[in-house]
Amino acid sequence: MRHLVILIIIIIAISYHYHVNLIIKKDKMKKLLFISLMLTICFNSLFANEVNVFSARHYDSDIQLYEKFTAKTGIKVNVISGKDKALQKRIVEEGSDSKADLYITADAGRLGAFDAAGMFQNSMSSKIKAAVPSNLRSNNWTGIAKRARIIYYSPERVNVNDLKGMRYEDLADPKWNGRVVIRKSNNVYNQSLVASLVQNNGKKATAKWAKGIVSNMARDSKGNDRAQILAVAAGEADIAVANTYYYALMLSGSKGEEQKAAAKKVLPFFPNQDGRGTHMNISGGGVVKTAPNKANAIKLLEFLLTKDAQEHIVNNTFEYPIIDGVEPHELVQAMGLGFKQDLKTKVASYGKKQADALEVMLAAKWK
Ligand code: FE
Repeated sequence: MRHLVILIIIIIAISYHYHVNLIIKKDKMKKLLFISLMLTICFNSLFANEVNVFSARHYDSDIQLYEKFTAKTGIKVNVISGKDKALQKRIVEEGSDSKADLYITADAGRLGAFDAAGMFQNSMSSKIKAAVPSNLRSNNWTGIAKRARIIYYSPERVNVNDLKGMRYEDLADPKWNGRVVIRKSNNVYNQSLVASLVQNNGKKATAKWAKGIVSNMARDSKGNDRAQILAVAAGEADIAVANTYYYALMLSGSKGEEQKAAAKKVLPFFPNQDGRGTHMNISGGGVVKTAPNKANAIKLLEFLLTKDAQEHIVNNTFEYPIIDGVEPHELVQAMGLGFKQDLKTKVASYGKKQADALEVMLAAKWK
């Protein structure tokens, strides 16, 4: 479209050039050429072939992925990286002036909350709907990769029989008194996990559970997900809760030999296998309500759901693919792929229950 418009303008300019050259003075001709040039620039920006991605995902590999998209489609990807809250605030404050087309982040609850604030528009094309199961998207945003939030244990201090049939609910069991590490209540992965408990068990039961897990903690919550695994490896606790890709990342060695050795000292355990399955969360994105390049944003989402893009994601971030027919990274495969995922609890419920989740955690004095 853009090229066609530019071509037409050039043709008009050239014909004008030859036509007026014969009948009018040179300075008038210059004016006309100048106007043509200005028109070309205006049309060029009006039909700019680009997409503006506001991303809270902190992976260099995502940039390589966008470059692949540009090579394939000719659509330039402008990336604005930042923390979730800052990006959301900026988009809201800029309102209709915002350049944001696509907002991408690594938690379903954040996507849900942004959607609840009316910041997305319906952008689920038939291609997206066909690729992503309905429990892993909403009408206005979609998952692009999956991650599980699971338990890690010290095989030296935890008998595997003690874990048999273990559920997230059992983290509150007094048998784990002084043995559990998990990060703070302000962490969004925890808020989504607890939101899924509220969704499945109700707020009252989850409030009781939160008190139980807090009294089982080996220490006040601190540190990131990897810090919880390190605490178990160091003997500060016996079981930890952390996302799957962090364990694979540590085993990969890219976080240093010390973290690799620590990860080798703990083993993963997938909870709730006899019931609804292990808690799953997503990385995902949605098209912003005021997107200036809506069609390109949808194209980019569709691209992220292709086999090529999914392979790139899982091999760089250690997440699980969201489409069928793609194998996770071998380190993730080694953790075990046969586990039952909770695909019953809609990830869209996390955003809806996050406020309740935070409330029960704070009431339990979860740091
Ligand atoms: Fe993360």
